[in-house]
Amino acid sequence: MEAAPPRATPASRIPRTTGVLIAGGGPVGSALAVDLAARGVGCLVVERRTTINRAIKAQQLSSPSMEQLARWGLADELRRRTPELSHASIWFRGPLADERLGEVSWVAPDPAQVAELPHIAAQWQVNALLRERAVDSGVPHALGWTLEAVRQHEDGVTVVLRSTETDETVEVEAAYVVGADGAHSRTRAAAGIELVESELLARHYNLVVRMPDLVERLGGEPTRMNLIWQPDWHSIAHTVGAEPDVWRQLIGPFPVDHELDDDAAVALMRRSVGADVEVEILQRSSFPIQERIAERYDSGRILLAGDAAHLFPPYMGQNMNTGIGDATNLGWKLAALLHGWGGPSLLTSYTVERRAVARRTAASSIAAWRTMLSVQDVVREEGLPPTGSPDEVRRRLTERMNAMSAIEWNTDGVLLDHRYAGSPIIVDDGVPARPWEHTEYRPQAKPGHRLPHRRLADGASVYASVGAGFTLLNLAADAETADRAARAAADVPLTVADLRPHRLRDDYEADLVLVRPDLHIAWRGDRIRDEVWDVVRAAVPVRS
Ligand SMILES: Cc1cc2nc3c(=O)[nH]c(=O)nc-3n(C[C@H](O)[C@H](O)[C@H](O)COP(=O)(O)OP(=O)(O)OC[C@H]3O[C@@H](n4cnc5c(N)ncnc54)[C@H](O)[C@@H]3O)c2cc1C
Repeated sequence: MEAAPPRATPASRIPRTTGVLIAGGGPVGSALAVDLAARGVGCLVVERRTTINRAIKAQQLSSPSMEQLARWGLADELRRRTPELSHASIWFRGPLADERLGEVSWVAPDPAQVAELPHIAAQWQVNALLRERAVDSGVPHALGWTLEAVRQHEDGVTVVLRSTETDETVEVEAAYVVGADGAHSRTRAAAGIELVESELLARHYNLVVRMPDLVERLGGEPTRMNLIWQPDWHSIAHTVGAEPDVWRQLIGPFPVDHELDDDAAVALMRRSVGADVEVEILQRSSFPIQERIAERYDSGRILLAGDAAHLFPPYMGQNMNTGIGDATNLGWKLAALLHGWGGPSLLTSYTVERRAVARRTAASSIAAWRTMLSVQDVVREEGLPPTGSPDEVRRRLTERMNAMSAIEWNTDGVLLDHRYAGSPIIVDDGVPARPWEHTEYRPQAKPGHRLPHRRLADGASVYASVGAGFTLLNLAADAETADRAARAAADVPLTVADLRPHRLRDDYEADLVLVRPDLHIAWRGDRIRDEVWDVVRAAVPVRS
């Protein structure tokens, strides 16, 4: 007998005041709760479900997300719970039951440029780990409650919550509200924030199916990722977790008004295999090929993060990762406001910084999708080599496919080259920025950029020297200069890391580098002016 779902949190256990009310306990809301708790900020997570959503969605954590998990002390635990299945081999194929055409030229990040390698784990497992940490850190959760309405006033936000079980309502007073409540965000609507939408180009399906005898048909090979080409659609198909007969297929394009019922989904799966296999549909959803980004992420004391703020196709698998990046950008800013050392325009900077990353990632994901269509044109016009074709024919075709779709498999720039150019809380140094490239990450220690990664002589990551607040990396300044800088920081929480023995001055092109809690560079130079502290903590008003 299946266990009954857990009951909703009783109203009596919901605190009526909090620092930050987070609507949505998905991966992004949970990540923010973990970050805020680690900073000593009181928060409350409101989640309409009583259990973690186990739908198969995101599968991949990028290096920056894993680096952040490591800062929360969770990366090793995630790896322990989700032993990685090989990501290195992705096969180009016609129908799955046919011979492989060849292998995708997948480019993994250079291990020297990251503190943590990317990791494959199901979204629900990431969500569960973050939820557990948040709960263990003492963050109260109102499970089985929805955010229904918000009313901003001068000192905070009054939030009405409604129980999904009993329909009763409670009011909570919060200093700030973060809507991490997904694509159909009620918070976004309540704050009156519009979505800016690009043209709707196509519809794709996310199908999770059980195909019991498939792996046997494939000769029992350990096949994780496959890219199936058909004249009218393509599919990214892989087994899910440790279950060899459960497959997920991201399949399309279809017209925007296309509808797929279970029978049509079964037929589609059989075409993807090229044989009349047994198919049980476990999950069926669709997603648009479109960019939908909130016009702004802040409206007074209400903020948006994750899918509530931005939606784009899961090509390159960056949506959840972008949301985790939002959480790490926002966490320290809310802490700065609630602890009294930050100015309100920190929230304006949140929109400026994170919206730019979402826009660039969205454009890249749609560009990656277009390259898949161009490969499909080749398949449609020239056909696929039939089983038994000479290796040379398959090799030539896959070389072409690789060249055409390279930006889907080689994403270092998209994943690692996050820059906060134009942010009001970054002190630019006037050095020209290297051109941004989708496929390549060429680290530069310029203010606004992610701190270029280095390993210290003992093998530790330079990121381990970055504390919970701001960190002044002393690369070549005399101790008195660094001490003076630390005194001028006043109430900005600051750690000075003496890295002079590691001879990194030439790499970072300055004696001193000021790093923010989210690993981005706020300032660099040889002598820090007192005004820098006012800029980085947004004490200077910023026009929105
Ligand atoms: C097919 C598919 C494949 C994907 N693949 C990838 C991938 O490989 N990599 C990647 O990074 N991303 C991927 N994504 C995207 C990823 O799933 C999302 O970006 C991720 O779920 C966003 O997390 P979130 O916490 O912002 O939102 P959600 O996961 O949607 O969580 C929002 C939470 O808010 C709750 N909620 C909603 N409304 C309310 C309310 N009014 N009150 C209280 N609670 C509320 C919901 O129950 C939910 O738990 C994929 C998405 C799809 C559809």
